Amino acid sequence: MSTQPRLCTTPAAVTDAVAVLLLSDYLVLDCEGKDIGRTDGLLSVICIGTAHAEHIFVFDTLALTRSEPAMAPLLDLMKNERVCKVVWDGRQDFLEILDNYGVRLGGVLDLQLAEVTSRSAVRGEDDRRRLYRLSSGYLSFQLARKIKKDLNDIHLVIGLQKCLELTRLQDTVGKDAEVVAMHKANGGVPWMERPLSSQLIQYAANDIYAIDLLYKFFLQKNWIKLNTLPLLLDQSKRYVSTQWQQGRTERTHPFRIGALVPLDVLKSPQTTLERCSGCERMLSLPCFEHKRQSGILRKSRCRLCNVIAAKKRLPCDEGWMRVTHTGRPGEVI
Ligand SMILES: [Zn+2]
Repeated sequence: MSTQPRLCTTPAAVTDAVAVLLLSDYLVLDCEGKDIGRTDGLLSVICIGTAHAEHIFVFDTLALTRSEPAMAPLLDLMKNERVCKVVWDGRQDFLEILDNYGVRLGGVLDLQLAEVTSRSAVRGEDDRRRLYRLSSGYLSFQLARKIKKDLNDIHLVIGLQKCLELTRLQDTVGKDAEVVAMHKANGGVPWMERPLSSQLIQYAANDIYAIDLLYKFFLQKNWIKLNTLPLLLDQSKRYVSTQWQQGRTERTHPFRIGALVPLDVLKSPQTTLERCSGCERMLSLPCFEHKRQSGILRKSRCRLCNVIAAKKRLPCDEGWMRVTHTGRPGEVI
């Protein structure tokens, strides 16, 4: 990539950056930090690129706090629903921006979700293929057969690197192998150290470049279509807020959000909401196994959490709860 990322650590640099960002047709956004979205997570930088990654700004969130007046126009831009922010898995980014700056990231278009929706809508994948993905990439074939009825509407997501390989763009933009190795090593990447190394700034900027390339590929191949864009924006809005709804989770949390698309994301919830005892999100009744018996009874965990429980060999969700429609967990039957 040729774009030189610009590190912004001062109010003047933020003001200059916002003047450029305001002129762009869309923005590409990605956050980096230490274990972002986790209980001990810390945000280090917010990277924002303009269309075609012509300009990439790396905002140092340690130097630029929410009380800095020069940040206000940037925060307005981030929450503006009319300014499209293209992201790849914005679930942790949404949580960190809201926690650190008090604004809800608006106008999000999440390519990780667009890749999922394009499978059946554009690429002709049928339900057997969806089950094959789950069987080969997440569960075993044996387990998938055993819990097949629980797998309705459950979709596996893929990572950014895997998508670059799928679209054969991996040679155009690659991850810095040294930083990838740091991610895997015990000490992790020194995102919280200052000054940030030029290697890390470049690494952060590379993701912006990669997301922009994928966005153009998705448009070119009709994986994102203009007529379904409003739906994808609605789905993305629900998707990116799921980690925030669950709250920060420990690394070892059995039901932490990860490789599966959370329920009530692809479809908008239509009923009153019930709390799942696994992921603790408020979800509509179809997200739970339920039955009529002097009213409505449901399982305490959502279907997705029960799939995770099966994979992790956790105890089964045996009991039934009465649906109370109060929004609070019902009585256990
Ligand atoms: Zn759940």
